Amino acid sequence: MSDLSTITGNQVKTYQQFIAGSFSSSADHIEVLNPCTEEVIALAPRGTKDDADRAVAAAKAAQTEWGLRPSVERAEYLKKMAQVIRENRVFLAETLSTEQAKVMGLAQVEIDVTAVYFDYYAGLARSYEGEIIQSDRPNEQMMLHKLPIGIAVGITPWNFPFFVMARKIAPSLLTGNACIVKISEETPMVCMEFARLIENIGLPAGILSIVTGYGHEIGQALTENPDVGIISLTGSVVAGQKVMEAAAKNITKVSLELGGKAPAIVCKDADLDLAVKAIVASRVIFSGQVCNCAERVYVEEEVYDEFMTKLLPAMKAVRVGDARTDDKADMSAQINSTQLMKVDQMVKRAVEEGGEVLLGGRVSNRFNKGYYYEPTVIANVEQHHEVMQNETFGPVLPVMKVASFDEALDFANDSEYGLTSSIYTNDINKVLRATKELRFGETYVNRENFEAIQGFHAGFRKSGIGGADGKHGLEEYLQTKVMYIQQN
Ligand code: NAD
Repeated sequence: MSDLSTITGNQVKTYQQFIAGSFSSSADHIEVLNPCTEEVIALAPRGTKDDADRAVAAAKAAQTEWGLRPSVERAEYLKKMAQVIRENRVFLAETLSTEQAKVMGLAQVEIDVTAVYFDYYAGLARSYEGEIIQSDRPNEQMMLHKLPIGIAVGITPWNFPFFVMARKIAPSLLTGNACIVKISEETPMVCMEFARLIENIGLPAGILSIVTGYGHEIGQALTENPDVGIISLTGSVVAGQKVMEAAAKNITKVSLELGGKAPAIVCKDADLDLAVKAIVASRVIFSGQVCNCAERVYVEEEVYDEFMTKLLPAMKAVRVGDARTDDKADMSAQINSTQLMKVDQMVKRAVEEGGEVLLGGRVSNRFNKGYYYEPTVIANVEQHHEVMQNETFGPVLPVMKVASFDEALDFANDSEYGLTSSIYTNDINKVLRATKELRFGETYVNRENFEAIQGFHAGFRKSGIGGADGKHGLEEYLQTKVMYIQQN
C-alpha cells in the first residue's frame, strides 16, 4: 500500500489530498470513471471546508519566509517539478489518457509541455522587475516593488488538468506566493499522482497543497476564505460567476479564464485546403472539448460550396476510438454522460431551429460502452441559433454562409464570449482589420487555434478577466508597492 493510494481488488485507486506537506485521507469520495469503458477506476477525495481551512492555514504559516527567498531559489523547485514530470512522462500520460479519454499522443503532449512550462517559468526568475521612478522632491527615491500577493488559490477544469494545474502553480510559486490548487473532481488522478511525485522535492510544508472535491464544497470554501489573496479559476462562465460572488465578500482578486465560442472566418481568397485541415483539427482535438477551438464557421458565399465539398470528407475521415488502445484515433469519448447528452441535446435543438445535419448528429453506437459522439457538421444555421451562440464543447461544427467579410466580422463579434478566433485569408488588409476589429483575446491567422506558453491567454467579455502565460501571466500573482524614501 502506498502512502497515496490503496489498490483494491479491482484496481480502483483511492487517492488522498496533499495538504500541509503530507497526504491525508477523506471520509467521502467521488468516483472517477474511464469515459471509454464507463468503469470506475479511482476514488477521489471529496474535500471539505475543513480541508480548505487547513490548506489555507498551512499556506499562511509558510508564505512569508517563502516570499522573502530569492526568486532563483524558488525557481529551483519548479525545475525539480519539470524533472520529475520528465522522469515519469509515460506513466503520467497513460494516467491522463485513461481518466479523461484523451488520445495518447495528445496526452503525452500535455505532459511534456507541462514540464516545459515549469522550466519556462523557472527561467523568468531573474527577469521580472520593479522600477525606479523620478521623484518630484529633492533627495527622495521612489521605488516600485513587485511583491507576492500571499496565498493563491488555483481552481482547474477537467479538460487540461495537468497543464492548467501548472499554469496556477508555476507563476504563483515563482513570485513568492503559496499555492493551493483545487483539481477538477472529474479528472483528479494525474494531478494526485504528481502530488505523490513531488512529495519529497523539499518544498516547505504548506507552500503547495493539491486538493480536490466538488466546486460548491471545497472550491467554494477556498474562495470564501478571507486569507486568500487571489483566486485563479479556469472553468465555465457559471463557475466564474460563483467565484466572483464569493470573492466579493473579501474583495479578493480574481483571475478568470472561462469558456469560448471561437469563430473561424474563411475568406473567399483563403487557401481552402489549409482552412479545412486546420478547422477540422481544431474542432476534433480532444473530442471537441477545448475552450479555444473552432466552435462556429463563417464562410464567404463565393467559396462556400467548395469549402463544404472539402470539409465533409475531412470530418468523415476523423477516426474515433478508445483513447488508450487505439493509437490511430484522432478523437475519443466525451468526458462523461452529462457532457454527451449536452452535446446531443444541442444538436437536436439546432435541427429544430432549422439546421441541417450533413454528417454525424448523433451519439455513436460504434462501441458497446463509452460516451462517444459522432463528428458532426451542421449547415443552414443562423446567427441567432443556440448552436452559434452557446459553447457546445463537442465535435460539432456549425457552418454558415456569409455575404461579405464585414458580415463575418459582425457575426464573429456577436457573442458573449471573447476567448479566441481565427481567420483564413491571404489578404493582408483583412488580417490587419482582424487585428483591430475581431474582439477576442487571441486571433489565429491561417492556423489551428492553440496558444504558446510565452504568449498571453486571456478572454474578452464573459470569457474572463486577466490571463495566463508569458511574462504578463506573472503580473496576475504580483501586487505593486511604491516606496518613497526621503534622504535626510
Ligand atoms: P466547471 O466550471 O464546471 O469547473 C471548473 C472548476 O471549477 C472545477 O474544479 C469545479 O469543481 C470548480 N467549481 C465549480 N463551481 C465552483 C464554485 N462555486 N466555487 C469554486 N469552484 C467551483 O468547468 P469544467 O466543466 O471543468 O470545464 C469546462 C469549461 O472550462 C468550459 O467552459 C471551457 O471552455 C472552460 N475552459 C476554459 C479555459 C480557458 O483557458 N479559458 C481552459 C479550459 C477550460
